Amino acid sequence: MKTLYDFTYPQLVEWLESQQIKKFRAKQLFTWLYKKRVNDVEEMSDLSKEFREMLSQTFSMQSIQLKEKHVAADQTTKYLFELEDGLLVETVLMHHDYGKSVCVSSQIGCNMGCKFCASGLLKKQRNLTAGEMVQQVLFVQKQLDHDDERVSSIVVMGIGEPFDNYDHVLNFLKTINSDHGLAIGSRKLTISTCGIVEGILKLANEPLQINLAISLHAPNDALRSMLMPINQAHPIKELMEALMTYYDETNRRITYEYILLDGVNDHLEHANELADLIHGQNAYVNLIPYNPVDEQPFDRTSFKVALKFYDQLKKRGIQVTLRQEHGVDIDAACGQLRSKRLKEQ
Ligand code: SF4
Repeated sequence: MKTLYDFTYPQLVEWLESQQIKKFRAKQLFTWLYKKRVNDVEEMSDLSKEFREMLSQTFSMQSIQLKEKHVAADQTTKYLFELEDGLLVETVLMHHDYGKSVCVSSQIGCNMGCKFCASGLLKKQRNLTAGEMVQQVLFVQKQLDHDDERVSSIVVMGIGEPFDNYDHVLNFLKTINSDHGLAIGSRKLTISTCGIVEGILKLANEPLQINLAISLHAPNDALRSMLMPINQAHPIKELMEALMTYYDETNRRITYEYILLDGVNDHLEHANELADLIHGQNAYVNLIPYNPVDEQPFDRTSFKVALKFYDQLKKRGIQVTLRQEHGVDIDAACGQLRSKRLKEQ
């Protein structure tokens, strides 16, 4: 059943008008949902009884339920939610120096089949709706409300490929960004893609100035195609051309995500190839320690080797960060908790 969280603000105005209901009701509803964070229609005291009844009959007010919550030693918190159809989805809250960041899932499972990923082991069952993504963030925000804290950034980097669910992901981000919604600035919103070129080109023409991260993980086609099947459909040259178009249109810096896999993509020659590939771009590389997944044959690169890789990129003039690990003690790899629970079932 559709929820009110599925609507962007303009979509809600349009729907209200189609029902011959005054459009100022959209503002009232968004205030209840996103500012007061109330999801029981009966509590929305400035709405008429008839309107409340109509809303209750037309919409489900909450379509995700918390099933599990795990807090790591570093306070990274992983939530497992159950959706109305019984499917499970993961969300992660990370605490950074610069604020609280929520990693949102965009699909149930994923069809992209990246070889190092727990989510890719389980095929896509369906896309998440915009409302299901909004509720992931709102749930976390309501928990933070107890300490008067705020979600300050969102990364669509959880289970799923966001550009395989483009419209719902964009609607979700529009609501999160809207002043009527959670009002999180567009520069604090990031979509991470494995390299779906059509999505990159479409995003380049969106008025919403959100950040783009590319899961690159290899600097050449042979290695990337081995790790990420998407590279066969969109090889690196095509990906780079799309990114140049994206940059020309948006002037926004591109982030490359690079998971370091022991002995696979972490040699100095890979660092040099990567530097050659992105040389001259307004970009930075985020080196990520791998969280091993039981079913996959990869191991984590040692810190010493990771540091050498990092230093080499630095020497070559590439902006780079070596990402800190989050929540290693709570099945932190994307999709790991969900796949564990599915196996148990
Ligand atoms: S890394 Fe992302 S795109 Fe690749 S299989 Fe995992 S969830 Fe899908």
